[in-house]
Amino acid sequence: MCGIVGYIGNDNAIDIVINGLENLEYRGYDSSGIAFLDEGNIDVVKCVGRINNLKEKLSKEYKNFFSNIGIGHTRWATHGVPSDVNSHPHLSMNGKFAVVHNGIIENYLKLKEELEKLGFTFKSETDTEVVSNLLEKLDDGDFLNTVFKMKKTVEGSFAFGILKKDTNELIATRKESPLVVGISDSGFYVASDIIAILKYTRDIIYLENGDLIHFKDNSYTIYDKNDKIVNRELKHINWSVETATKDGFDHFMLKEIFEQPKAIKETLLRRLDEDNNLNLDGLEDLLDSDLKRFNKCYVVACGTAFHAGLVGKNILEKAFNFPVILDIASEFRYADNFLDENTLLIIISQSGETADTLAALREAKRKGAKVLSITNVVGSSIARESDNVFYTFAGPEIAVASTKAYTTQLVSIYMIALKIGRILNNISKSEYDEIIENLKLIPDKIQLMLKDTQIYKSIAKKLKDKSNCFYLGRGLDYYTAMESALKLKEISYVYTESFAAGELKHGPIALIEDGTIVFVIATQRKLYEKVISNIKEVKARGAKVFEITQFDDSNCVCDVKILIPKTIEILMPIISVIASQLIAYYASLAKGNDVDKPRNLAKSVTVE
Ligand code: GLU
Repeated sequence: MCGIVGYIGNDNAIDIVINGLENLEYRGYDSSGIAFLDEGNIDVVKCVGRINNLKEKLSKEYKNFFSNIGIGHTRWATHGVPSDVNSHPHLSMNGKFAVVHNGIIENYLKLKEELEKLGFTFKSETDTEVVSNLLEKLDDGDFLNTVFKMKKTVEGSFAFGILKKDTNELIATRKESPLVVGISDSGFYVASDIIAILKYTRDIIYLENGDLIHFKDNSYTIYDKNDKIVNRELKHINWSVETATKDGFDHFMLKEIFEQPKAIKETLLRRLDEDNNLNLDGLEDLLDSDLKRFNKCYVVACGTAFHAGLVGKNILEKAFNFPVILDIASEFRYADNFLDENTLLIIISQSGETADTLAALREAKRKGAKVLSITNVVGSSIARESDNVFYTFAGPEIAVASTKAYTTQLVSIYMIALKIGRILNNISKSEYDEIIENLKLIPDKIQLMLKDTQIYKSIAKKLKDKSNCFYLGRGLDYYTAMESALKLKEISYVYTESFAAGELKHGPIALIEDGTIVFVIATQRKLYEKVISNIKEVKARGAKVFEITQFDDSNCVCDVKILIPKTIEILMPIISVIASQLIAYYASLAKGNDVDKPRNLAKSVTVE
């Protein structure tokens, strides 16, 4: 999920790889490392923390050292905390292979067990080290063939850079995770992101899913997913470095919105087997022994993560068959709560460093409650201090306005609740199957929505000169309305409020005047007629209504209907929020704001 750089050629690979890694720093990482050939042996230097630490280590141990071939990595931990041993590259047990890896190997535990039975030992907690040892096990003397066999054995997502002892060859391959190849007169480059190698070349080959590239004897051969030789077009890149960091998207936020189908797949599929069983590793003790004693559950978070908790309340209550209480961390930490050893506290935080949420966690632990956190960052403070952790695996989120972290938090809560609901027998097998089957279809539905974003662009134009607007909804849609309003206000600076549609007459309707823009989210059939009445009420006062809905009813009373893909109603919040993310993004753009870094806001709120 973070960065890879590799080089083979006439120049010093160490300098090129380090420079490339520095160019990838913007993506966020927790450790870095490099491997290179040293008279046939593979040397590895790696450490936790900034690339500067790595450079210091290198300058002590390898000052003026030259190697013509090397691979490097910036890690964004998914398996095992950030540490020196868990950093990449990973050497195989006897130092024959070195591997750098972006992504997640889903069947790593099974492979690890098999390898351990054969006597292989492991130093790290990572999924990647399994791949180095697997290569050593499969080694038949032919580097290329060994990698082909490895590729067929591993499941999951990967971009790999691989070196073999006594072999002046470099192999790189990818599935799901990105990898590009650069070509210049003085050598060949591989990188997870063009920006890493743009200084050396602008002649680029994009490897396709499943491709493998083998560099040997001053030349290269590309193989497709079926191991057949293929030609891939060499493209000359004219982009600026700025554009390249965003994979061609104008902003990180847009890139992250578009990454949601992949991020959701990552969250879901690595814990789901072919029979739809959820394997929630890391939650074993909670599920096996603690579950039955809980008589209270609090969900505590801030901002967007709090909204994810609100959406999850409904299914969590179903799972536990008792009320679930939501609170904002900054309030919860100072409130008199009924926390004790029969309480489960669910904490949600993208960064795992949110100060108020961390304080709430500590308070709950002090009072003996069990803490389960849902976070995106492995080894973060919240992850370390919680009793159990569920990682969202959304990949680094750089834009301040959260998008893919939010939708993966939603998917995470559904998964946790489904598992709990089955164990406690509060969710039937058929309900469980229906939700899982529909969750699996969500990534493709979001992909479909992202194909044509024209409607959102035209809505954004209408918002451009407005100073306020509203989001309304009922039931689950009210929570999506809250998240939608937050998204819009934080990056467009349009004063946006959300209301439960039924509350209109109790005050907010006084704010509606001629031309006020009102977004209505309507995805819940049993509340639909009520929502239609609310639309009529605001329209009668001059509002311009945009309805985000899955219902294609002909008696539409709104001004503009935004039809979104259908799924079962309980899962609609994952789909409907995509529409409001896009509205917020294009509104911010239309207003000429700094989309990724909105004024007065920070990505991770580490102060109270
Ligand atoms: N899953 C690997 C690890 O946790 C790779 C993470 C990455 O892509 O940086 O080490």
